[in-house]
Amino acid sequence: MVAHTIILGILLFFCACLGCTSGRENPSPSRNYPLRVLCTTGMIAEAVAAVGGRHVVVEQLMPPGVDPHLYRPTARDKWRINAADVVFYNGLHLEGRLEPLLAKRGGFLPVYAVTENLLTRWPERLRPLAEGGGIYDPHVWLDPLLWAECVRFVGERLAELDPERAADYQRQAEQYVAALLELDRYAREQLATIPPTRRVLVTTHDAFGYFGRRYGLRVNSLQGLSTLDEIDLQSMNALIRELVAEQIPAVFVESSVSPRALQAVVAGCQALGHSLTIGGELYADCLGPPGSPGETFLGAFRWNVDTIVAALR
Ligand SMILES: [Zn+2]
Repeated sequence: MVAHTIILGILLFFCACLGCTSGRENPSPSRNYPLRVLCTTGMIAEAVAAVGGRHVVVEQLMPPGVDPHLYRPTARDKWRINAADVVFYNGLHLEGRLEPLLAKRGGFLPVYAVTENLLTRWPERLRPLAEGGGIYDPHVWLDPLLWAECVRFVGERLAELDPERAADYQRQAEQYVAALLELDRYAREQLATIPPTRRVLVTTHDAFGYFGRRYGLRVNSLQGLSTLDEIDLQSMNALIRELVAEQIPAVFVESSVSPRALQAVVAGCQALGHSLTIGGELYADCLGPPGSPGETFLGAFRWNVDTIVAALR
């Protein structure tokens, strides 16, 4: 009898695990208040703090200045994930080395990719990789309209977990969306002042695809969508020839990526008689440290716009 009960218990346990592998299909309201929310990047942490307000305690896994493509989880991270009521991450393979751990925890607590709605409902709004295969550009925060959908997704999930305060989450999500739309209006106005022939944004890794698509800038980079990709001499030489031929005045380094490769491109252009400059440092995949202009996402985005306009206009 006892053995039967144990076997039944084990079976029920496995069924329960299988039944909620994503945490998404079966969101049961959390009994904890305020909700302890763990976020991977600073951009997500800011959005969740805005949407959750006083109903959430937000923790950020990756410190400012850290490259999410390369981030490896520590032993302490595993503990922090287990201690959270809910986890929000970007998804689309941005946090490549963290995703196996998050997938594993998804059977035990709600773990959500903020890009889930974009991927399942509006994949046509995502930038596919040239090779296809359902792999998309993860840098969606650099288009405020796409990011607005991620913010609304966060609002919906918090409302499910804490239905009593659903109206607050919805209202606060729309307030942050309004700030994103204002940011978008500012970016459109400012970037339109760059002469059309100079609307070329060159960075180290390919983070600004959505940004370029939204604001009519041609985007070029030395590396692919991930900072894990190799930079080869051939693509470096091709970029140098293009910059010289089109007399592009500036290229941009990123706060979480080494500037060395782009410095070599600048030297290569100078050797061919074209004076190319580093137009400044952009916040691509992470926010800046406290006290810097990129301390907040809204500040970082505005800084990027102003830096690009000042260097290319
Ligand atoms: Zn990136």
